[in-house]
Amino acid sequence: MMLDTLLRFAAHGLANAGWLAILLYILVTTQLTIFAVTLYLHRSQAHRGVDFHPVVAHVLRFWNWVGTGMVTKEWVAVHRKHHAHCETEQDPHSPQVAGIGKVFFEGAELYRTATANRADMEKYGRGTPNDWLERHVYTPHPYLGVSLLLVVDVLLFGVLGAAVWAVQMAWIPFWAAGVVNGLGHWWGYRNFETADTATNLTPWGVWVGGEELHNNHHAFPSSAKFALRKFEVDIGWIVIRGLEKVGLAKVLRVAPTLNERPNVALPDMETLKALLTHRFEAMTDYYKTVIKPTVREQSNAEGTRRFGAMPRRRLRRALANGGRWLDKTGKARLASIVENRPRLQQISEYRARLAALMEQRRPESALAALQQWCREAEASGNRKLVEFAARLKRYSVARA
Ligand SMILES: [Zn+2]
Ligand SMILES: [Zn+2]
Repeated sequence: MMLDTLLRFAAHGLANAGWLAILLYILVTTQLTIFAVTLYLHRSQAHRGVDFHPVVAHVLRFWNWVGTGMVTKEWVAVHRKHHAHCETEQDPHSPQVAGIGKVFFEGAELYRTATANRADMEKYGRGTPNDWLERHVYTPHPYLGVSLLLVVDVLLFGVLGAAVWAVQMAWIPFWAAGVVNGLGHWWGYRNFETADTATNLTPWGVWVGGEELHNNHHAFPSSAKFALRKFEVDIGWIVIRGLEKVGLAKVLRVAPTLNERPNVALPDMETLKALLTHRFEAMTDYYKTVIKPTVREQSNAEGTRRFGAMPRRRLRRALANGGRWLDKTGKARLASIVENRPRLQQISEYRARLAALMEQRRPESALAALQQWCREAEASGNRKLVEFAARLKRYSVARA
């Protein structure tokens, strides 16, 4: 009799749930985990784009402990370091440096290696919770939460509960560490010509809570909202807005929008400010309206889609970032392609000068360089440059 009960429990658990119910349970709990990571750890703690009511913050923090076993301070530190040293040796998880295979399949190991650096945890993890719960429960017992979840899973579903738990545990390492950190710096589309390789994976950021819009996020890291184009949807932001409506969240920062003013003869401080704020958008505009059509014209004139060993697409991308992601051979190749083609040389030099003037420390010198840049572009005789300069002069930052 006793054995019978035990066997029945092992097979069905206390819930006696069907497949559909189990799948639904997995889906709800893993999505909750995704939200706990993107809303609490990422947007609120790491970037301070949004503040949550203590009740919401506690629920999300508790769920992180249960669903991932990650410590807030450690996650925040690893992530802030990723932004601070993107695509360099110092980046905890760059597919450009470590290789896409490594980041995709071993993202969780890279994360653990990064958290082992205690000095970094102190330096980048500042301002994260340090209350009684953190000091006595979450930080000293990171595995207790996930173990509790295992107990609950087994109680609910019997032996099958262990498999359910395995899926729950693999969710963040796979979707966040693998897909977002790996593919999100490697594959997808770009709205912004940022100094890293971050990409948007899909315009509908639903499955991993909006984190699919990773290029947008790198362009405006402290923005609580990741969707920046009309056709983009960020489910995390929808949740934030919902919480805000009922007084449970306060949005601290969203990405500013770029405005244009009529009749600006010469770039002024307003133009410069807008250019610096929207530098990635400006560089994308330059790519789309100057580089892309110029390369197309050049390729049509030469009657080929390849420039030596470099296909047209690759050349376009390389010109967009000054060949930053090419290896040594690639860089030499790019230089020799550009050298013999005055049109390409011209747009490549103008891009480099525009990028350089944004790095100037003194605003007065940056402004003088920008004015000079626009004057020369307008006198260059290159219609695409003339039109780009005319737009650039009108830039202004939208007032909220
Ligand atoms: Zn990133
Ligand atoms: Zn971030």
